[in-house]
This record gives sequence, structure tokens and C-alpha cells, in this order.
Amino acid sequence: MPNRKAVHPELYAPDSAGIPFLNGGKCRACGYVFFPPQRYGCESCGAPPEKLEAAELRGCGRLHSHATVHLHQGKDIEAPFTVGLIVLDDGPAIRSLLTNRRDEGLTIGDRMNSVLVAAGADQDGNEMVELRFARAEARK
Ligand SMILES: [Zn+2]
Repeated sequence: MPNRKAVHPELYAPDSAGIPFLNGGKCRACGYVFFPPQRYGCESCGAPPEKLEAAELRGCGRLHSHATVHLHQGKDIEAPFTVGLIVLDDGPAIRSLLTNRRDEGLTIGDRMNSVLVAAGADQDGNEMVELRFARAEARK
């Protein structure tokens, strides 16, 4: 039976109900929250890796900035597409592709939510999903 699989399973779960969580980390020494997860040590207080723990971050935040790419040399994605910097309610700022291909209708400060979008299938027929951010519906 084919399943949903995340293109980047280390960063988010493929089967989250509702707004997908992001896999971040937290420092037990100083409380610093970060994304993406890493095992080098706390970049805020310098605590060793043993002080870091996994933390689920809510995929909700505000749009800090955005840019639309009109010409792109890579073959992995077709232009135009829009990249946003979202400051998560849980702290970290993350750069992500937005579901809007162009930046129409986006305003700095907009509420944004993570969403999973279809990204084709792998060779075993599993449905692949990727994480994007989308403007939250009018409720602010
Ligand atoms: Zn720390």
C-alpha cells in the first residue's frame, strides 16, 4: 500500500493532520529554539550537543519578507516562484517556497501557515509531499 513520504523527512512529518509541524530543536541550557535541526551544539549559548533536544515547531508565523524569482537556471523548479522568510510563532525564522508562484496579494506581516503539497511519486508509487508556506485565510 503506497504511503505519503516527505521529500525532506528530517524537516517535517509527511502525515501531519492540519498544519504540519516542523522538526526543530531546543537548547535545554538556555531555551534557544532553532530550525533546521542540528547536532553541533547551541549556537546561542555554546552548550554542547548533549544539551540539545528535538522540538516540534508549529508551522505558523508571520511573513517577514518575500522575493519572486523570475529567471532560474536550475532544472529543479520552474520560474516564476516566490520565496518567503517566515518568522515562526515558536521563534526561528525560516526561508521557504510559498504556494503563490508570484507575490500578488502578499503583505509583510501576513499570517502564514505551513502546508504539504504534492511532489510526484517515487519509484515505489509512494506519494511524495513537500513543505510550503501559504498565506492564512483572512482570519488574523
Ligand atoms: Zn543554549
